[in-house]
Amino acid sequence: METDHLCIGGGPAGVFAALTAAANGKRCMILEHNKQLGRKLRITGKGRCNLTNNCDRDTLLANIPANGKFLYSALSRCTPQDVMAYFEGLGVPLKTERGNRVFPVSDRAEDIVQALQKAVQRAGIPVVHGDAAHLILEQGRCLGVRTADGREFRAGTTL
Ligand SMILES: Cc1cc2nc3c(=O)[nH]c(=O)nc-3n(C[C@H](O)[C@H](O)[C@H](O)COP(=O)(O)OP(=O)(O)OC[C@H]3O[C@@H](n4cnc5c(N)ncnc54)[C@H](O)[C@@H]3O)c2cc1C
Repeated sequence: METDHLCIGGGPAGVFAALTAAANGKRCMILEHNKQLGRKLRITGKGRCNLTNNCDRDTLLANIPANGKFLYSALSRCTPQDVMAYFEGLGVPLKTERGNRVFPVSDRAEDIVQALQKAVQRAGIPVVHGDAAHLILEQGRCLGVRTADGREFRAGTTL
């Protein structure tokens, strides 16, 4: 199977990378070795998912332990309010609690996972289940991945 972008791992990082690629008109695929996407996401925030902190970029940066400066650019392009607007746009109402911590109104991390799963489905992104075992490298370029059970997936870009 060949695609433009191959995301190894269907946690929040892989899902967002895939959704961003698809939104930019790229063919994209997620390779996930669990049966479902976002397994760890389901246990975050003690099952409630502390999605973000409802503060401004500079407050967020000032509260990152050690040197958070490397996040300056990312947090300028995608602020906590952007994250909140994104999930509310996916139909997940949010609330802000003590310390500006943001959770789904339902207190269910599962609702965040389901919203992302639906977004993946709507974008037509195939989710393939398998364990990425070997990267296919040619002349220092990563061209894809081989799974533990011997399947091969090739991509223009491996994320
Ligand atoms: C107990 C706990 C509570 C947390 N609470 C919060 C919270 O409230 N708020 C918050 O913002 N963060 C929280 N975090 C942190 C948050 O879970 C992580 O920052 C987030 O999950 C990282 O996302 P990720 O996509 O990078 O990685 P992951 O969520 O770990 O996703 C990686 C994915 O890759 C898959 N994978 C791994 N290896 C392979 C392979 N070889 N082949 C195929 N697939 C593979 C995994 O199955 C997984 O689905 C918490 C973490 C823990 C452990």
